Amino acid sequence: MENNLTSNNSNGNGRNILEVKNLKQYFPIKAGLMQHVVGYVKAVDDISFKIERGKTMGLVGESGCGKTTVGKTLLRLLNPTGGQVIFNGTDVMTLNRKELRALRPKMQMIFQDPYSSLSPRMPVSEIIGEAVREHNIVPEAEFDDYIDDVMRSCGLQPYQKDRYPHEFSGGQRQRICVARSLALKPEFVVCDEPVSALDVSIQAQIINLLEDLQHQREMAYLFISHDLSVVQHISDYVGVMYLGDLVEYGEKESIFENPLHPYTQALLSAVPVPDPNYKMKRIILEGSIPSPANPPSGCKFHTRCRFAMDICKTVVPDTREIEPGHVVVCHLYNEQGTLVEENSEKAI
Ligand code: SF4
Repeated sequence: MENNLTSNNSNGNGRNILEVKNLKQYFPIKAGLMQHVVGYVKAVDDISFKIERGKTMGLVGESGCGKTTVGKTLLRLLNPTGGQVIFNGTDVMTLNRKELRALRPKMQMIFQDPYSSLSPRMPVSEIIGEAVREHNIVPEAEFDDYIDDVMRSCGLQPYQKDRYPHEFSGGQRQRICVARSLALKPEFVVCDEPVSALDVSIQAQIINLLEDLQHQREMAYLFISHDLSVVQHISDYVGVMYLGDLVEYGEKESIFENPLHPYTQALLSAVPVPDPNYKMKRIILEGSIPSPANPPSGCKFHTRCRFAMDICKTVVPDTREIEPGHVVVCHLYNEQGTLVEENSEKAI
């Protein structure tokens, strides 16, 4: 599906730290004795977006929609099937191993599970400092002071540097993960569900830490989460994924106040509102998410969409820009970006 959701959101090239163009990540399905390729799982299917320096893009969608695969592919932890990832003017997908290694400190990832992503056999100073040494981030003489500074900025105390991960709580371990990434002075960080394994009170601390560090260092985040309340809090822009497609993209306010895609409307209808008098109108999605190995034809969402029309079953919808920077991929909207007349009753 051609999901060119870049639109007019760029605000000038110099402000974009990352431009993703037509990114594809297909995994082959092999079968039989000879392990012939009989099909592909299209985990990321031709998506495009941009992230400005110092801003956060939230990426939401159900489990299995391809969010984590996008994050890993951007950093070339997975080699893509196609597309471009332009980081600070450099196409990351064309770099050789040496060039990629040199770029690694600038593009980092914080993983979901602070338990399994830390080596149990290394003290904290080594966990944070290993890559600092490897990439010569600071002269050796300044190494200890630098690690102390990084620990302090992430809410850890330097006297804890000789301790091992099992001696820390879940929240502190996630702080160690943040410190490990931060120590490399990144400009762009993929945060893959960084708080979903933590208690709610600890979640707020980590979110605040990420926000503080972003303001101090002007880092950009791709914040992957299925928790829409957290995404609403931290994001400047939001992208909504369904079965490998980016179906809606825009500024946070536009997405949360005026969701256009029926899938986004259903997702947002489940976000709790802190008002005891507010009556939630939850939109229940019928059926389960189809297999990405055999996605529905036409609009991939048509098997679960309450507005599905005949055209949706056979024709892939085009991208429509409804308001500046707010784009949607759905047959309910015409070329002018307005609701198609005969569908307007359905879509309200
Ligand atoms: Fe629903 Fe059709 Fe829009 Fe897909 S294109 S979201 S099936 S109305």
